[in-house]
Amino acid sequence: MSRATVGVLGGGQLARMLALAGTPLDLRFRFFDPQPELPAGGLGECIAGAYDDTAALDRFAAGADVVTYEFENVPVVSARWLAARVPVLPPPGALEVAQDRFAEKAFFQRLGIATPPFAGVATRAELEGAVARIGLPAVLKTRRLGYDGKGQEVLQTPADIGPAWERMAGARCILEGFVRFARELSILAVRGRDGDTRFWPLVENEHRGGILRVSIAPAPRLDAALQAAGEDVARRILDDLAYVGVLAVELFEGDGRLLANEMAPRVHNSGHWTIEGAETSQFENHLRAVVGLPLGATAMVGQAAMVNVIGALPDPAAVLAVTGAHLHLYGKTPRPGRKLGHVTVRTADVAARQAALDRLRGLIA
Ligand code: AMP
Repeated sequence: MSRATVGVLGGGQLARMLALAGTPLDLRFRFFDPQPELPAGGLGECIAGAYDDTAALDRFAAGADVVTYEFENVPVVSARWLAARVPVLPPPGALEVAQDRFAEKAFFQRLGIATPPFAGVATRAELEGAVARIGLPAVLKTRRLGYDGKGQEVLQTPADIGPAWERMAGARCILEGFVRFARELSILAVRGRDGDTRFWPLVENEHRGGILRVSIAPAPRLDAALQAAGEDVARRILDDLAYVGVLAVELFEGDGRLLANEMAPRVHNSGHWTIEGAETSQFENHLRAVVGLPLGATAMVGQAAMVNVIGALPDPAAVLAVTGAHLHLYGKTPRPGRKLGHVTVRTADVAARQAALDRLRGLIA
């Protein structure tokens, strides 16, 4: 293989970890991002430009063997514009689905994937009608540009409807039934250019304030039936989209069944543990997939857990003194709510993982 150049739309921490994983494969990286200061800076050429700046996109595409992306709000028109010049993987159709919560849920429904009850809502009257059908409590979300719990309102009583609708400021929305889930899980999968598909074990995720805090891999009490149910969800999506690359699907588990919440057509925070905790990380397998190399094994190596570093940096020496801990910092300036890094612990057994996780929770705000 001649030295392939991978263009990455976005230059944040996911792009940084992609480049770190691709370096042993001698891949070359190029990043496109409107921001000049990037976590991925220094790991490849950075092209700063707005996503609709076709002259800058042209420079980005020139000489790239494949383009991928690290966040799902890349404008679909830009992804399609690039796809006319260079392979863009995962396919832009995956972006289109993932950018609109209503289109995404309708897509899941078409594929026979169970979801919370939902309805598209464009007016106050439609919201009233949707509440009458779905019932309360319910969650009102903007269709587009919501992430990490932003652009969401929980409606508990009819009195919440008016104020919540006002706060959405005319944005098109989706109303979802409030799911009293037992826990949140995610599945990460990868599909190669030849259709070969692999899955990592389901992960249990803990959120705080709508932001992922902790992932535990494999999810406690994971049995073959639950893993198979998660894989079935991911496989339907991958095959329908003729997908290439890593896909994450966030799921609610309750009453022994899985409901799909959302998908991310990219490497995902709940898969960061795979760097140390799996035979092949999500980052390496994503790159193998998009450049057309054979996929690596996704089997776990021991037990893993990941804790996000959000808002404030911990004492690195204290973190690294925890047996089995691996610290990843993204080179970002601390700011409240900002993802600055993560720590993965990998241990031989569940008891050691729990002990390490308990210590890390005390060290990381
Ligand atoms: P999202 O941005 O859709 O991933 O939502 C962020 C978080 O809000 C999820 O991880 C859940 O903890 C919670 N959430 C989202 N949708 C629902 C729902 N329909 N029912 C209950 N909780 C939800």
